[in-house]
Amino acid sequence: MHPFAYVAPGTVDEAVAVLDKHGDRARPLAGGTDLLVKARANAWELDAVVDIKNIPELMTLTVGNDGLTIGAGVPCYQVYENEEVASDYPCIVDGTAIIGGIQIQSRAGLGGNLCNAAPSADGICPLIVHSAVAHIAGPGGSRDVAVEDFCTGPSQTVLKNGELLVSISMPRPPSNFGAAYTRFIPRNEMDIAVAGVGVSVILDSSGQNFVSARIALASVGPTPILASAAGNSLAGKPINDDTIAAAAALATDASTPITDMRGTIAQRKQLINVLTGRMINQAVERARG
Ligand SMILES: Cc1cc2nc3c(=O)[nH]c(=O)nc-3n(C[C@H](O)[C@H](O)[C@H](O)COP(=O)(O)OP(=O)(O)OC[C@H]3O[C@@H](n4cnc5c(N)ncnc54)[C@H](O)[C@@H]3O)c2cc1C
Repeated sequence: MHPFAYVAPGTVDEAVAVLDKHGDRARPLAGGTDLLVKARANAWELDAVVDIKNIPELMTLTVGNDGLTIGAGVPCYQVYENEEVASDYPCIVDGTAIIGGIQIQSRAGLGGNLCNAAPSADGICPLIVHSAVAHIAGPGGSRDVAVEDFCTGPSQTVLKNGELLVSISMPRPPSNFGAAYTRFIPRNEMDIAVAGVGVSVILDSSGQNFVSARIALASVGPTPILASAAGNSLAGKPINDDTIAAAAALATDASTPITDMRGTIAQRKQLINVLTGRMINQAVERARG
């Protein structure tokens, strides 16, 4: 492995300055559960890793009337062990609680999961269906990017050299909102998703009709996918097997999987169809309380 400097700044500005100085030869370090594996495999020639865990706003989780904000370095266990997150954002718990095992969850967070940009990432679809926004700091100032637009390809993101993900925020769910995420893996745990689906719904006050929905797909394209046509197809429709099956078919159409050692195109498309139906039903159950 190429030797590199370890830098642990205490502010966003200091971190951005180091990242900017080294360009593509420096990387932020959150939990390190992807970064160290890739660095050891010589995925990059690094001159510096910039540990973000001494920067207060990157290590802070706030939840309240304004919504949920998760600092880019907050580890998964601090997300799913938070009682307000567990009660109001159970889909975020669905994702964070299955990223690796307890050792990984003690280090790894949603920020690293998002910036690593794996199509199979379990944390990204839950963020997308919650309409989460990524807050980015860089040499030119700050900017916000919707999470569904953040990943641009496998291991590729909108981040430019010198830019740092500061936090991810999402609005407080409105009434009659429910969301859920699941993945298919051949083992019980500790595996990479063959396919994954996240769904959020808002129901009308009767609880019998969809007002709106968002559906996101993992591991069936070069990036996590917001299946807009599938989600939009539910708006204004009654909750029944036909409307749910039609949305699942549209989600299947939106998937562009490949065949690899973990699954075939046909298997992945079938999984998206089945998991979408299941997650719509689970999101409806949660919305109804
Ligand atoms: C045994 C094992 C099991 C795993 N199981 C799963 C699983 O079930 N599901 C799953 O989705 N993933 C899994 N992973 C992958 C990994 O744990 C997750 O992607 C994790 O969320 C990464 O978070 P991290 O904090 O460790 O990121 P890091 O490794 O620190 O960083 C990941 C990438 O993001 C960049 N980065 C980190 N923070 C920032 C920032 N603030 N701004 C800009 N760039 C940043 C880093 O430079 C690096 O390129 C597993 C990994 C291992 C080793």
